[in-house]
Amino acid sequence: MFDVIVIGAGFAGSVLAERLASQKDLKVLLIERRREIGGNCHDFKNELGILLHKYGPHIFHTDNVKVWEYLSQFTKWDVYFHKTLAVVDGNLVPIPFNINTIYKVFPESKARRMEEALLKHFDYNSKVPILQLNESLDGDLRELADFVYEKIFLHYTEKQWGLKPQEISSEVTGRVPIFVGRDDRYFNDRFQAIPHLGYTEIFRNMLAHKNISLMLNTDFHDVCRIENGDIYFMDQKFEGKLIYTGQLDELFDMKYGALPYRSLRLEFETIPVEWYQPTTNVNYPNNYGFTRITEFKHLHPLNCSSTTILKEYPEPHVPGENLPYYPIFTEQNQILYQKYASESVKVDNLIPVGRLAEYRYYDMDDIVARALEVFEKWI
Ligand SMILES: Cc1cc2nc3c(=O)[nH]c(=O)nc-3n(C[C@H](O)[C@H](O)[C@H](O)COP(=O)(O)OP(=O)(O)OC[C@H]3O[C@@H](n4cnc5c(N)ncnc54)[C@H](O)[C@@H]3O)c2cc1C
Repeated sequence: MFDVIVIGAGFAGSVLAERLASQKDLKVLLIERRREIGGNCHDFKNELGILLHKYGPHIFHTDNVKVWEYLSQFTKWDVYFHKTLAVVDGNLVPIPFNINTIYKVFPESKARRMEEALLKHFDYNSKVPILQLNESLDGDLRELADFVYEKIFLHYTEKQWGLKPQEISSEVTGRVPIFVGRDDRYFNDRFQAIPHLGYTEIFRNMLAHKNISLMLNTDFHDVCRIENGDIYFMDQKFEGKLIYTGQLDELFDMKYGALPYRSLRLEFETIPVEWYQPTTNVNYPNNYGFTRITEFKHLHPLNCSSTTILKEYPEPHVPGENLPYYPIFTEQNQILYQKYASESVKVDNLIPVGRLAEYRYYDMDDIVARALEVFEKWI
């Protein structure tokens, strides 16, 4: 009945299902274990009509024209430039750290010296890693590097990854950039926007093709199995391709152990004030157990006397209890992942794709680009 089975209705699975159905006229069965489409990009309206991102705030940005044009078939966009503030020493300051931030956190005379030193040594509108600033002979630039490391990076990273300072690799630390300019936007990409009716609407439009059948609330293991390199669907051997966007360790029954992830506890709260904070995101690098607060009304403005916010508390991932959000990049984990990857190549018709199946972090535009690439290679 079906030419292709796709597991997972996030961007990886939905883009592939849409392309195969619309460009190759193949019959696609899309199986999703959740009750909803969109994967981690799923959004929905709460009782006040505020569009919330169920799995954490998602901001679209890309330099990839192909991705932009592809997604634009399924949505109109609203103009939106993402700006993030961080609470540093009790003040709200723009990040990534730039010249405006310097003037907010240092006395004016020192800030001016820092600005002059930056412009003397580096190009305007360039990004300079703090490691490079630290190597400078200029004392003001070294002070700036230390400040950014301590107040913006260190404690945020400790919270986000549950690490002690000494466990944070200096390779990563050194790459934290300072922006030598006054552009307060979080991203510099050419295309930055919010889908007019939200992300779920994009998925609805993608999956509306007559060749796509959707099974929600169904786990891969409920209807499929892999045995001796063959794929079975409802106990019958399936000769078509299986596109799998779930966890590769789960597909092979965790036979080598679970792949480690970092998880999040997400706490939504509705507050009887019109606005809670000045921007969508405010980061709290040095205070509280949460890393940031998101106020969703900034993404889709709405006339409403209350507002809904989200606090993100990073926590260890416990399989079966919370969700795997961020893969943890260590050499050891990559070796473990490779064991599962070698199992997957033994299954002829299996195509693992997506953030879980490939055990890597993809932004939305990257995963759309990856799915389009997989589709083109397959053609
Ligand atoms: C907190 C957070 C914030 C983010 N913010 C941004 C942002 O601002 N901008 C940006 O560009 N990107 C952001 N991202 C990244 C974005 O979420 C990913 O790029 C995107 O979700 C990847 O899509 P995917 O299809 O690979 O995975 P997913 O969206 O996770 O989709 C996989 C789907 O497969 C289903 N599935 C898994 N296993 C099975 C199974 N056994 N049976 C059936 N179904 C199964 C899952 O339920 C899920 O629906 C963020 C990620 C996180 C974690």
